[in-house]
Amino acid sequence: MIDGETQLVGAIGWPIAHSLSPAMHNAAFQALGLNWCYVPLPVRPGQVEAALRGLVALGFRGANVTVPHKQAVIPYLDAVSDDARAIGAVNTLVVKDGRLLGDNTDATGFLVDLRRAGFEPVGRRALVLGAGGGARAVAYALAMAGTDVVVLNRTPSRAETLVRDLAAWVPPVSLRSVPLSRQALSRLAPTADLIVNATSVGMWPDVDTSPWPDDLPIPPGCTVYDLVYRPARTRLLRQAEACGAQGIGGLGMLVHQGALAFEMWTGQDAPVGVMRQQVDGATR
Ligand code: NAP
Repeated sequence: MIDGETQLVGAIGWPIAHSLSPAMHNAAFQALGLNWCYVPLPVRPGQVEAALRGLVALGFRGANVTVPHKQAVIPYLDAVSDDARAIGAVNTLVVKDGRLLGDNTDATGFLVDLRRAGFEPVGRRALVLGAGGGARAVAYALAMAGTDVVVLNRTPSRAETLVRDLAAWVPPVSLRSVPLSRQALSRLAPTADLIVNATSVGMWPDVDTSPWPDDLPIPPGCTVYDLVYRPARTRLLRQAEACGAQGIGGLGMLVHQGALAFEMWTGQDAPVGVMRQQVDGATR
């Protein structure tokens, strides 16, 4: 029940109605008996500064930030974590003593889920498809964990920028970019341990598309991680399984980035199982 003691958090985005985060976090608050509430906060482009002032003024404890505001919020924050600075995007805000702190839990959320699935990234080779916000978080997470990373993107200049930006933050692993083409995938796939789809290809409603060519086998020893979580089982994951490779969908990353934010806000361990059950139900 919402009363005078209820603590508020929310998600700033435009649009925001489709977000799974309110249901996921509210289920978690309920499971732990916390008098907290997570609300969707539709914020139009151009209204970010006013919205952030409002969060503090209204006593919100924090918020998630999603498309298209992950970069736009940065100039208005009092402090930004190294992870968020390196990735160039903030997905979690914490309000503390009237100050707004920005962080990014996508990178750690991805790594936690990858390791949970049994993949240890140290000393391995990864292909990251895409160079948008998701790809930046994944490439940063993998490079920090000691994986050699090749970023392949349809627009090569975006992948080049990603590599240049991250080079200042990550340890001296091999991090390079290559234009996305069938030829490049065919050349690089045989030595890859991990293939990550961080493009939006395969996402609902275009569920019959895949970033991987149909006639190019995925090595059976490879792990394929698809950031796309709607549908839960993408065409790419079906291709991976057909080749005998392990396939992991993006719902785990969604849950773990949310769990990390939950823990920053409440100081309590997140009920990850409850959160997972909630998003599984919503995407079935
Ligand atoms: P974004 O910043 O808009 O980037 C989209 C990427 O997809 C770009 O690299 C773009 O290439 C590429 N792309 C789009 N259409 C393509 C096509 N037809 N062929 C080849 N490449 C194409 O998006 P984002 O925020 O990184 O999100 C990407 C996906 O990851 C979305 O499905 C999102 O839901 C998912 N995601 C999931 C999580 C999670 O927690 N599981 C977290 C973050 C993102 P160009 O640069 O050439 O346009």
